Amino acid sequence: MTDIADRAAEREEELIGDALDEHRRHDPTAGKTEADSAKWCDGCGQRVPDARRKAVPGVRLCVDCQNEAARVEAAAKRNGRHA
Ligand SMILES: [Zn+2]
Repeated sequence: MTDIADRAAEREEELIGDALDEHRRHDPTAGKTEADSAKWCDGCGQRVPDARRKAVPGVRLCVDCQNEAARVEAAAKRNGRHA
């Protein structure tokens, strides 16, 4: 027999999970740790410095590629379209 409190706790976990999923959709590095950081840049394939991997958990790009991505995104916004 399942206690009502157990079911309530399960439901709550589901809701928290949904909220975390939603949050992660907006911020891809949310809830990530240093272990999720890329050792090699997704953009150029160069080594991502350990200090950056530690400072930005879940980071996928090196500083150069991050800056380039931000520049492209900013340009796309100025042009009124998505990157
Ligand atoms: Zn790069």
